[in-house]
Order: sequence, then structure tokens, then C-alpha cells
Amino acid sequence: MGTKNGRALAELMALDYLEEGGPFAEKGAVGAKDGFPIAVDWTKRGKQACVALSVRYKRGSLRHTPEEARAALLADASLLQAMGKKKLSSAEQKAACVQGDRLNLFWDYSFGAPKPQAVSAAVEALVRFAALHAQPVGEGCDLCGAATGGMLYCLEGTPQSVCGACSGRIEAENQEKARAWEGVEPRPLLGYAAGAVAATLLALAWGGIAFMTNRIYVALALGIGFCVATALRLAMRKVTFGGKIATFLLTVFSVLAGDFFFILLSVAKEMHVSPSGELVQRVLSHFAAIEFSNSSGYLSLLFGIVGAVAALTFLKQKPPGRGMVRVQPGRRA
Ligand SMILES: [Zn+2]
Repeated sequence: MGTKNGRALAELMALDYLEEGGPFAEKGAVGAKDGFPIAVDWTKRGKQACVALSVRYKRGSLRHTPEEARAALLADASLLQAMGKKKLSSAEQKAACVQGDRLNLFWDYSFGAPKPQAVSAAVEALVRFAALHAQPVGEGCDLCGAATGGMLYCLEGTPQSVCGACSGRIEAENQEKARAWEGVEPRPLLGYAAGAVAATLLALAWGGIAFMTNRIYVALALGIGFCVATALRLAMRKVTFGGKIATFLLTVFSVLAGDFFFILLSVAKEMHVSPSGELVQRVLSHFAAIEFSNSSGYLSLLFGIVGAVAALTFLKQKPPGRGMVRVQPGRRA
């Protein structure tokens, strides 16, 4: 997958396109130009669609203070020309940042994403700007400062030049952590219990909120999925296949139990009685009939399943250690 534009840009500028371990939500076009590592992709900043651009330079080599360099960046004529703007929007200005080892710029858009050609021109302008204000990383090592032997990696989402000694050390640490992780025993019972407690508490919350507002919200189903998955994952430590099934079922259960609680409260209000064990039994015996008497019950079930599917993605456990992907120099088409 990845973004079509990101791939086109990678092709255009002879960059690598990373699907995993990349800079923006694990993805992005990564490479180096004139010794400056760069990362670009069409992505989102919060809800705002944008092209994120990042250029790295040698740590501590900035010739001015970050504030001065940032002011110069915002007024850079060739950058603005490449972006086809007279000036950056206030949101773009606010988001732009210059740090000790990189500058980040976000090119916002709502309709019509910037074309790869235009973005490529903006990257060129940013690299020229970096060359004017800082030193390239070049062949040096970003980690130990060795002057030569660096190769381009994406290390924890940041393009960095890393020498053989440093990449070997990180590789060994990652293997050590992976071995330790293999030794961790899952705690299935604790996991199921934590998931069940979370599902029950959230059912009460779902029913209570539905009762007070007379509405059901799909976002709440996603929230339930997230909470059930998180509780189960933390308690189980390592999620088993049974843990995945339990998360799915508990999320659906939680939503339906929430509806049950909602109906119970509604019936109690209608009959001017307080919810009792007897009332619970009476509502329970008619629950399926009431719940699926109209579309809202099916809607809840659908929301529950959506939340449960989302919950499975929240269960994903990343391998321990620092993510390190070798960036392959791209080929120009
Ligand atoms: Zn090194």
C-alpha cells in the first residue's frame, strides 16, 4: 500500500519507499540528497491532510539559532515558489520547526494534493536551505560521530546515517531483547479476567450514556474495543490466540450488555420502579426480542463488531528493540 504520491516521489527523486519502519505512521519516502537525509510523505497532521517533509543535517551544525533559522525558512523564496504560495498559512507556520539536527515542514491541503513534481521542487529548496544553514550528514555516523562508514537507515522512524559498528551494536541489542521477549510467559487467565472486568464496566458506561442521551455512538464502540484490548494485553503480557478471540467476543458482549443495561434502565423508568433482580430476569427473558425488534439493535451489533475488529488491531504487539530498516537507494526511472 502506502501512498501513491509518496511512491511516485520516491521514483522521481530516486528515494526508497518504506512500508514499515518509515517516518510517518511507519511509511514514507526516505533517502538522501547531497548528504542530507530526507523523509517525505502525503499524510495527516491530526485531521489536517498534509505533505510532511523532513530534512536532516549534522547534529549541532546549525549556523544560527533554531529560531533564526526557522524565521529564514518561513521566508525562503525558492521554497514558497516551489509550493506556489506567497506565504505559508498560519497553521503551516506554527507547525514548521527547526531543531538541532533536522527541520520539519508540513504542506497542508484540503482539495487536490500537491503533485510529486511540486513536492520534489520543495524538497530541493529545503535541501538548498539546509546546505546554507548547516552541514550535511554525508558519510559520517549520526550516532557515534565517526567521519566515514555511515550508511542510510531509518532508525525509529528517523532517517540516519549509521556506521557498521553502531548498526551491529543495535542489531545485537535487538536480538538480546527479542530473546528476552521470547522467554516471557503469557498470563492467559489474568488477561481474560482483566478483559472481562473492562468489558463489564464499559457496558455499564455505554448503557448509562445511552440512557442519559438517548443515543448510541459508534465512537464509543471503538473506545470499548480499545479499552478491552488494552486491559487484556497489559494483564496477559503476551497476547495468545485465545486472547484475540476473547477480545473480539468481550467487545461485542460489552456493547450488547450495554444495550441490555440501557433497556433495563428505560423499563425501570417507564414502570417507576428501581432495577431489581426480578426486573433483570424479566428484561433478560425478552432481551433478544426487544433488542432486535428494530434497526437499532442490529446497529449496535454492527458497532460492536466494528469495535471488536478495531480491538484486534490494538492488540498488536511490536517486536521489542529499536526499529531499524536499511534504506535502499532508489533507482531513477
Ligand atoms: Zn557509529
